[in-house]
Amino acid sequence: MGSLTGPSAAVISSGAPVARRRASPARATVQSSAAPAAGPAADGLKKGIAEFYDESSGLWERIWGEHMHHGFYEPGQTAAIADHRVAQIRMVEEALRFAAVPDEPGKRPKKVVDVGCGIGGSSRYLARKYGASCRGITLSPVQAARAQAISDAEGLADKVSFQVADALDQPFPDSQFDLVWSMESGEHMPDKAKFVGELARVAAPGGIIIIVTWCHRDLKPGESSLSADELKLLGRICDAYYLPAWCSAADYVKIAQSLSLQDIRTADWSENVAPFWPAVIRTALTWRGFFSLLGSGWNTIRGALVMPLMIQGFRKNIIKFAVITCRVPPAVDHAGV
Ligand code: SAH
Repeated sequence: MGSLTGPSAAVISSGAPVARRRASPARATVQSSAAPAAGPAADGLKKGIAEFYDESSGLWERIWGEHMHHGFYEPGQTAAIADHRVAQIRMVEEALRFAAVPDEPGKRPKKVVDVGCGIGGSSRYLARKYGASCRGITLSPVQAARAQAISDAEGLADKVSFQVADALDQPFPDSQFDLVWSMESGEHMPDKAKFVGELARVAAPGGIIIIVTWCHRDLKPGESSLSADELKLLGRICDAYYLPAWCSAADYVKIAQSLSLQDIRTADWSENVAPFWPAVIRTALTWRGFFSLLGSGWNTIRGALVMPLMIQGFRKNIIKFAVITCRVPPAVDHAGV
């Protein structure tokens, strides 16, 4: 997620000695492609993520609502607090538009999976927009329960359902979903290739995959990793937000290519999210925000304390807010052949 969470990374590029987090997982995964998707380090990471969201989701919902991700703003816009929920919906719409998800009756997605679903904001939105059925997965039991409770209360019980499950080992058979949606969860995945591989596995033939996620900048020709200073900044963010090492949007493209996915496209929306972190900090500095934060636990406070580093990372062009979309090849029609 955006706000109280962070970015992502791993597999391919610039690993780095991020490693400072206490008993936590990020440490072992920082050196990129070696990042384990299974084993004690991966289990530690999952536990940390689950606890982080168990603890912080209530506070986020009270102040920011059901979408736990950045808003999409016009570049240069300084947004008023009231605009943020609109901007978060716009983020969802821009992602759908970027991926050219069809909206005509008969072509709309009918089955959607929301990978890293938070408290289900996207799931409900997509279920309503398309009349689709939506399955959401999260590592946080608190989020899964809250997502279901809100959906049931809003009369969507027959359309959306949520469960605790790992994006790297999804509880779904192959080739299920017309739309595979990951809004700001990729940053937590310790093995990006496995992550994209799972997204592709559960996508139906012709299905569209959308990943909106935090990345580090693409490496320049001749570079084999980010600089030590850049890695140090990302490392401090990883520590607070339960993140493994970061990767670039170009790394995601390489993974998608290696899986023979089609229509692979990416865009940098960093400028469009610029007002977001200053706004989150402003809300944390209101009396209500401040006291809620104090009452919400150390992990959440630690997350709040590194928020200025996110702004710094974007300003220095180290952090990129990326959308990546691709499509599983359509089924070959053998009829009449
Ligand atoms: N997509 C939601 C929530 C973003 S917060 C929204 O936009 O509102 C990040 C989410 O990713 C959390 O729900 C967290 O539990 C989930 N997540 C992180 N790693 C995961 C994993 N390995 N498997 C499933 N969910 C994961």
